[in-house]
Amino acid sequence: MTKAHGLPWRVKFCIQSIKLASIMAILQILQYPDERLHTIAKKVVQVNDVTRKLVKNMAQTMYAAPGVGLAATQVDVHEQVIVVDISETHNELRVFINPEILCISGEIEGEEGCLSVPGIYENVRRAEKVTVRALDQNGETFTLEAEGFLAVCIQHEMDHLRGKVFVEYLSQLKQTRLRAKLKKRRREAL
Ligand SMILES: [Zn+2]
Repeated sequence: MTKAHGLPWRVKFCIQSIKLASIMAILQILQYPDERLHTIAKKVVQVNDVTRKLVKNMAQTMYAAPGVGLAATQVDVHEQVIVVDISETHNELRVFINPEILCISGEIEGEEGCLSVPGIYENVRRAEKVTVRALDQNGETFTLEAEGFLAVCIQHEMDHLRGKVFVEYLSQLKQTRLRAKLKKRRREAL
């Protein structure tokens, strides 16, 4: 997921990330409407070094993009792993492996963006509060009560694990227009 605003920060971070790019593993992010984004992710059977390496690479990819959340689905790994960091300082990484929503309440509507749909921001209605249970990088179970933007981020990323991209909440007409817009933009970029 990406933040809708704050361009100066974004530009500044891009410059920093270029310097760091050579020593980091930046994964390729699938771009909507890539069919692979609709793959249903499988549960992680055992949290091990391979999982931790994936988490590390996903976090680096998210910070470099820059974004505030990334699901393994977006880097073409179809396992239930998401990373989220909504802090301005990039030191509050949250890792959710095999996340499950235990409880939701309230309703909130806000503009969302996605690293798989760059430059597109649309309003989506979500639960305002979620209680989520997941495994951390050490395979330990934890439960988190999240609200507001963090809750939105978790829901957005968990949707990816179910093969759903946020623009699929829009009307069919809007989705058709969006696909045409992205197609045109890619043609122009060639
Ligand atoms: Zn996304």
